[in-house]
Amino acid sequence: MADPVETLQPHVLIFPLPAQGHVNSMLKLAELLCLSDFHVTFLVSDHTHDRLLRHTDVHKRFEHYPKFRFQTFCDGIPAESARSGNDFLTELIVSLKTVIKLFFRELLFRSNCLSSETNRPVTCMITDGVLSFAIDIAEEMGIPIIYFRTISACAFWAYFCIPQLIEAGELPFKGNNLDVPIKSIPGMEAFLRRRDLPGICRTDDLNNPDFQFVSTETRQTTRAQALILNTFEDLEGPILSHIRIRMPNVYTIGPLHSHHKTRLAATAPPMVATTTSNSLWEEDSSCITWLDAQPSQSVIYVSFGSIATITNRQLMELWHGLVNSGKRFLWVIRSQLVTSGDGEAQIPAELLEATKERGYVVGWAPQEEVLDHPAVGGFLTHSGWNSTLESIVAGVPMICWPYFVDQQVNSRFVGEVWKLGMDMKDTCDRDIVEKMVKDLMEVRKSELVQSANRMAELAGKAIGKGGSSFCNLDRLIEDIKLMSMQSPKIT
Ligand code: UDP
Repeated sequence: MADPVETLQPHVLIFPLPAQGHVNSMLKLAELLCLSDFHVTFLVSDHTHDRLLRHTDVHKRFEHYPKFRFQTFCDGIPAESARSGNDFLTELIVSLKTVIKLFFRELLFRSNCLSSETNRPVTCMITDGVLSFAIDIAEEMGIPIIYFRTISACAFWAYFCIPQLIEAGELPFKGNNLDVPIKSIPGMEAFLRRRDLPGICRTDDLNNPDFQFVSTETRQTTRAQALILNTFEDLEGPILSHIRIRMPNVYTIGPLHSHHKTRLAATAPPMVATTTSNSLWEEDSSCITWLDAQPSQSVIYVSFGSIATITNRQLMELWHGLVNSGKRFLWVIRSQLVTSGDGEAQIPAELLEATKERGYVVGWAPQEEVLDHPAVGGFLTHSGWNSTLESIVAGVPMICWPYFVDQQVNSRFVGEVWKLGMDMKDTCDRDIVEKMVKDLMEVRKSELVQSANRMAELAGKAIGKGGSSFCNLDRLIEDIKLMSMQSPKIT
């Protein structure tokens, strides 16, 4: 008779931060694990869960997997919060240190490792890479834990090296010159400047709680058994080799959104999803109809993701720049994107007129579909990591206008290392926007499209059978099975 421990199927607890980009990629990983018949419990805040139910078919999609379930919790962020901008980061950090931490401990201890209707104890945790309280609990309970950092390897490595920057006297900055080269991040000495460091590094006060949180949490990564990154070897190989010196077991399984699609399509019978959206806002598909009527590669898509905010003045500079470029544009102006502040709230008639002629504005777009559309020839992005990967997969060159956290690092790599676009960070001027859009869509078009296509091909190879991300996902699945057999708390 088989040893009962050996026959125990893995039950993976997946815990993303309650924010769009994190939930998006970790839910895709959850479904990939479900394809291997794992039990999966996905922890999600009430707020995120409500929005997923309202704006996606996620419940219908996951009906295919009886061993999957959502477990919801209250994140304690006030109902009136806009959940955007820098304030959201601060609110989230406070919530993690207090409400979410307590909830997590309670949940695991009270419900006996989430022994639920699935009747399986948790045998492995995959948590967002800034939840060291989960490592404490995993250690206490003897459950293996793998960190999933949903940012790029280069941004992760920059965060990881913050203590070296402080030790070398590169942080905090002395003086206001943001073009000073940064020398203490191995692998980035040749091109990184102060302005390319994660946004949180622009502080004089190293005791700032947000700065402290991100840097100390990142250092805790080495306590986890392994690290999952949504990237691929051909994109970030040199930086990954630095990370592997500190964290030997890294699973690069990206680009996850595209890996997810190909794995679903490879099931028998193929599960070709009509939509794989995990959007927390209602997608306005009318923009696809609009794109259908535009010439090939003629449209610049403009979106700043789910958290970034802009001021009225920036809105006007961007808008004038787009209109003055003479190019067609599709712009996502999310509710909560524009905060009041400086500048005129009045929109000049000529902008409205030009937008009617060659622009289209939506509150939220089906972004992957937009980027894959033949009419789209460029992306003006805030350089969030999901957006960057989606652009890479679609072979669409970028203008990067980073807002905060990892985005400053990503945009430097896009412009300087991968040559997939141009970095517009720290400026917001209509003439510069106009010039960059013309450069992207016209002057430098063929050179940039060529390198974007080359990278898209490498991304496709990584997730194809035998590719690095494909093999790493298989290895992750096998390792989780092995860890689950060895889980000491199994009774
Ligand atoms: N997104 C979308 N529609 C939009 C804008 C964004 O579906 O109109 C999705 C986008 O495809 C990406 C995610 O929202 O998967 C944003 O994640 P990212 O890491 O780029 O930025 P964040 O929102 O975390 O700043």
